Amino acid sequence: MNMKLKKFFLVSFFCLLSFKPLFSSPIIEDKEYPVAILGSGIAALTAAVQISQAGFEPLIITGPSPGGIIVKSHSIHNWPGEIEISGPDLIDKLQKQAEACGTLFLPGQVVDIEMAKEPFILTVQNKIDNKTTKIKARTCIIAVGALPKLLGVPGEQENLFTNIFTCAPCDGFRFKNKTVAIIGGGDSALTEAHYLSNLAQKVYLIIRKDQFKTIQPKYRDEVLARPNVEVLYQTSVQAFQKTEKGLSLSLAAPSGIQKLGVDGAFLAIGSLPNTDLFKGKLELDSEGYIVLKNQQETSATRIFAAGDVSDKTFKQAMTAAGDATKAALQAQQYLGSSTSLASTAAAKSSVKELYSLASLRTAVSFSGKPVVVYFSSKHCPPCRSFTYTYEAWASQYQEKALFVKVIRETAPDCFDAFRIDCYPTVLILTPKGKLLYQGCGLNELSKVPSVLEKS
Ligand SMILES: Cc1cc2nc3c(=O)[nH]c(=O)nc-3n(C[C@H](O)[C@H](O)[C@H](O)COP(=O)(O)OP(=O)(O)OC[C@H]3O[C@@H](n4cnc5c(N)ncnc54)[C@H](O)[C@@H]3O)c2cc1C
Repeated sequence: MNMKLKKFFLVSFFCLLSFKPLFSSPIIEDKEYPVAILGSGIAALTAAVQISQAGFEPLIITGPSPGGIIVKSHSIHNWPGEIEISGPDLIDKLQKQAEACGTLFLPGQVVDIEMAKEPFILTVQNKIDNKTTKIKARTCIIAVGALPKLLGVPGEQENLFTNIFTCAPCDGFRFKNKTVAIIGGGDSALTEAHYLSNLAQKVYLIIRKDQFKTIQPKYRDEVLARPNVEVLYQTSVQAFQKTEKGLSLSLAAPSGIQKLGVDGAFLAIGSLPNTDLFKGKLELDSEGYIVLKNQQETSATRIFAAGDVSDKTFKQAMTAAGDATKAALQAQQYLGSSTSLASTAAAKSSVKELYSLASLRTAVSFSGKPVVVYFSSKHCPPCRSFTYTYEAWASQYQEKALFVKVIRETAPDCFDAFRIDCYPTVLILTPKGKLLYQGCGLNELSKVPSVLEKS
């Protein structure tokens, strides 16, 4: 038997032992969402808040980095209404606002999107239980962002966002009257140099080639003529090292290896938009950014994009929020009245909300099957993520168990009776009221499906 075949049989055998299918089929949801928002950064959260103003329940699919790239920022100075705020605090505020507006948070990543016909179908890999779900949506807002390109040299990761930055308007304020290096040879490097030369005492521009690649030669000449700007041509960065003053750069220059001491460095070598998923489905430009056709609408009708994924010029929190507001308003125009959609969604939920201990007791004694009880609170951020998954389990396992939920603010006696002070908690009770399972927190609750399978 060849090695590949051997490996396949071994894997199959262990999968059988652990009762896990080799390829689990996706759960297909009945519910059709008015708007599915891909991402959970500034653009996505703003779009959710805006869309909810028209009475629609937005669904956010958080993606691999909840909160998006701004959580890496320690200090933001250009967000309206805030003299200074950190990225995590800003996201926390926006997330609370989106939660208060009724946004559902699905902790997972979109791995495929079928957009040939309506409703669009998104395949999502759920982060809590690793299951794949297919979601139907009438409109989508893509806010999946872009990641700055890195050089991949020693010392870069260790100093990223402490001494090495990727956005001069965001972090340039740290280098007033100091020395900085900008690495890059295109228009974005020139733009960063222009910005930083107004602040810093000295700006080194480090470029691999012997000339800049620009579509604005006049602008290039203006930047390079500034007295505090010095260009190091045909020079590449080999490594970064943290020093007491800031950073030491090892440079490979025509004259050999050199060291350059600076207070900080900015990478301006481009960004990679997270658009692999949309290749061949949406029009992308040569760098992979989503091309917008009608305001925030993409090449596909009813699919909108906002934020860094479709903005290669500004990439700012405020521009992302502005784009997202426009995208949400455009989506609303397609959706028309909210009432019909909202009621369809509500009718299809398989989870019954109970408002007292007495009704919970009645539900258990008349169910004839196990009862799964979800203890939630309006003030519990992880519950927002979990609610979505719980609804999906309820429709998948409705033959096996009765799914109910109780909320601290409307059914406090249930919480007192079971002494619940951790959210989200799930209990599974037998028809005789015996406790079969109790778990709290997203990690622990991923076990619920296997308990149900065995019950
Ligand atoms: C260190 C730093 C400091 C900054 N400081 C400032 C500042 O001071 N002022 C300012 O205006 N701007 C600042 N910016 C820029 C600003 O953060 C961005 O322009 C803005 O956050 C972009 O938001 P976004 O929502 O478009 O994308 P992102 O914040 O990148 O969010 C993308 C989201 O998409 C999700 N995602 C990715 N793939 C998938 C998928 N397949 N399915 C579902 N979801 C997916 C990710 O999980 C993430 O939640 C700074 C940026 C950095 C890195």
